[in-house]
Amino acid sequence: MTGARTLPAPDELSRPFWTAGELGVLRIQRCGECRRFQHPPLVRCRACGSDDLTWEEVSGRATVYSFTVNHQQWHPDVTGPYTVAIVELDEQPGLLLTSELVDVEPDDVRIGMAVAVEFLQVDDVWLPLFHHAPAPSP
Ligand code: ZN
Repeated sequence: MTGARTLPAPDELSRPFWTAGELGVLRIQRCGECRRFQHPPLVRCRACGSDDLTWEEVSGRATVYSFTVNHQQWHPDVTGPYTVAIVELDEQPGLLLTSELVDVEPDDVRIGMAVAVEFLQVDDVWLPLFHHAPAPSP
């Protein structure tokens, strides 16, 4: 995608997510009771109801869970095509994040493709974007 982006408006709950990229890491909310990660952040754990929630650094590695390629120019300053993807973070099955894939031709995107996070800073927000990153061989 090139051009303007509609930025998120971080609130008290989501600010740690949107600013972690300043340190080059992806942070996800995690429950201190049942240890499950959850995204987007909530005031209570979706699994066990605990309010003992903290922010934990994750690897930033994920796989493409689903995606769509946008060709429509919805905004005069934004040109496509670009790929909007739901990625599943490696830390936990079903831990999904909606983002944009960069540096991958839309025709080359595949479900199950290994990706890794990178950040695009715009004002005081660090947008987590994902690029193709083959898993290191064992
Ligand atoms: Zn929990």
